[in-house]
Amino acid sequence: MEPQSDYLERLRPAGSRRSTKRELIVDVFLGQEGHLSADDLFDLIRSSDQKISRATVYRTLQWMVEAGIARKVDFGEGRFRFEHSYRHPRHFHLICKTCNRSFEFLSSDIEVLIEEIAFARKFASRQSVVQIYGTCEECKSGRVQPGGTVPTELLFARDALRIAIATERSGLEFYTKAARVTNDDRGRRVFERLAKEEKEHLTILEARYKELMEQDSSLESRPPFLFFKGAANGLFAAGADELEEGADDKEALMIGIRCERGSHRFFRRYGERFEDSEGKQIFLEFADEEREHLELLIREYRSLEERTSKLPSRRRKVSKRRRTA
Ligand SMILES: [Zn+2]
Ligand SMILES: [Zn+2]
Repeated sequence: MEPQSDYLERLRPAGSRRSTKRELIVDVFLGQEGHLSADDLFDLIRSSDQKISRATVYRTLQWMVEAGIARKVDFGEGRFRFEHSYRHPRHFHLICKTCNRSFEFLSSDIEVLIEEIAFARKFASRQSVVQIYGTCEECKSGRVQPGGTVPTELLFARDALRIAIATERSGLEFYTKAARVTNDDRGRRVFERLAKEEKEHLTILEARYKELMEQDSSLESRPPFLFFKGAANGLFAAGADELEEGADDKEALMIGIRCERGSHRFFRRYGERFEDSEGKQIFLEFADEEREHLELLIREYRSLEERTSKLPSRRRKVSKRRRTA
């Protein structure tokens, strides 16, 4: 992942000089979680440097917006607020009208829907804003949640890991079942190998999850950030049900291919959309893993076809089916 210094260097406009004032302002801004008004930022800056003027803070904030370091958000309060975008994924907001706090979430299903609408209307979309106004849980129940704010990046990484772990678990279940129902020796060994791999990956992901949880004691119990209707673990669960109903060796491989392909596409598609963050990395790494499994299964499927069909007339059929595998 890109260190903060490289990130800022990359965003610095060509020919612009380093300025210690600006650096201080950017530094303070990046150290904040949440949504600051220009005045909030000015107050923070003033507590570390009395000599910086309000105009300098405003100008730097404007520069940060143009450079992509800051995002401007409007919660309908009659003034803008700003949030930083460094390792901070794009998201939507829930805004409490009682306490005026805002809460972040991301739903890739909503993003996909917005893209589909824009595409259907031949509309070149530049930005979309989703804001839900209402009353937050604390204001509604009067119960204050312990602990301060947790960086969105941590919540994102937590949810990405949870999705990857759920997928890995259902993959393990699928391959264990597939190894049990497969008659072909070679095919069974492939499923056993995949089950073993899934188990190893699962151990690694669970260790990573545990490590992440150690960064903040309240992380586990925080509400979800990432919302997915159709995450990839459902694919393997459906595949396992199909195996249960009965499948021959080739069909079992084909079901595996379909699950891995769906899973690979899911993690790649969303991983590519996210901004630089641990959550993005988790998704892309997982997508690569799934691609390796997919390739292994396709190779096995072809080999099984090769072994079971020797006649020239069958061979034509094989090559035709290969393209669809
Ligand atoms: Zn509230
Ligand atoms: Zn936000």
